[in-house]
Amino acid sequence: MALDIAYAGICHSDIHQVREEWGPAIFPMIPGHEIAGTVSAIGSGVTKFKVGDRIGVGVFIDSCRKCASCLAGLQQYCEEGMTGTYNTMERDGKTVALGGYSNLFVINQDYAVHIPSNLPLDGVAPLLCAGITVYSPLRKWNVSPGSKVAVMGLGGLGHMGVKFAVAMGAEVTVLSHSPAKKADALAMGAQHFVDTSAPNALKPLTKSFDLVLNTVSAFLDINEYLNLLKLDATLVVIGLPGKPYEVNAGALLNGRRRIAGSMIGGIPEMQEMLDFCGEHSIVSDVEVIDAGYANTAYERTIASDVKYRFVIDAATF
Ligand code: NAP
Ligand code: ZN
Ligand code: ZN
Repeated sequence: MALDIAYAGICHSDIHQVREEWGPAIFPMIPGHEIAGTVSAIGSGVTKFKVGDRIGVGVFIDSCRKCASCLAGLQQYCEEGMTGTYNTMERDGKTVALGGYSNLFVINQDYAVHIPSNLPLDGVAPLLCAGITVYSPLRKWNVSPGSKVAVMGLGGLGHMGVKFAVAMGAEVTVLSHSPAKKADALAMGAQHFVDTSAPNALKPLTKSFDLVLNTVSAFLDINEYLNLLKLDATLVVIGLPGKPYEVNAGALLNGRRRIAGSMIGGIPEMQEMLDFCGEHSIVSDVEVIDAGYANTAYERTIASDVKYRFVIDAATF
């Protein structure tokens, strides 16, 4: 299918890759894996979509389609490795995949999702990575009314984590090093906001949470946060700073705590997440920008100065 891109979100993962913080990258690169747009043409075998449909594309564009993970709809955990949307080779081994900072895109129907008709495309674009990446662990760890959830970092991923956890009925605490974000966090439905830059801010929260989502893009002392978990509770690592965390065994043993990872979500769960957003009228809070502003947007994102996702208007490419 051919797709006219309307908006492409700027994920911190774009910045990590452009700056080679995860290792050597493939250049020239077109970043962008939060893509929302409209189908402009279809091939003869396309049955799932028609011209004019509003569709989304996220962090992968292909996978092996036959391993246990792919067959279970968990394409992001493909045993042969998913094919990323950019900064990778396609499965033919010779074509460089180019991402969503563009106005045109081609995608196989099996790797795209329908966008609910009541949601604006600019606010939807970030759901294709930021949204699904926090939705998936909230579901995996059965967040429901009464759950006590902490979200570390109120950025692109974190603010979606707050909105989803609140919609699922949890009591949500934001752990942020930016005190100026407090009013926004509460407006998104969080019950509590803790300024982690204040001395000993986390101490009173020891053994408080069923689930902690770590969406922080920078290196930090993970042990301070492990101490916030109740008995048998889990800290899910989502942020990818590119430098290993140092885990203190004592912080894990005391309370039989768990540390886990989670990476985006598969196609069925992406569709479930978008349908959930349609039902609950949830979208990302976005600053829509022109393509020429992208470098400034990167600097502002790194400075934690984004409310709460930059989205590029594809008409300006
Ligand atoms: P973002 O919008 O830049 O948000 C990250 C937040 O982390 C910031 O808003 C800030 O929140 C906090 N933070 C940043 N620097 C900090 C520092 N030095 N100390 C303490 N807190 C700091 O980034 P994002 O797009 O949400 O992505 C977050 C991370 O998740 C990135 O590393 C990205 O690569 C990764 N990621 C992972 C997956 C996955 O599948 N697991 C998917 C997408 C992205 P406060 O201002 O509130 O403190
Ligand atoms: Zn991303
Ligand atoms: Zn596979």
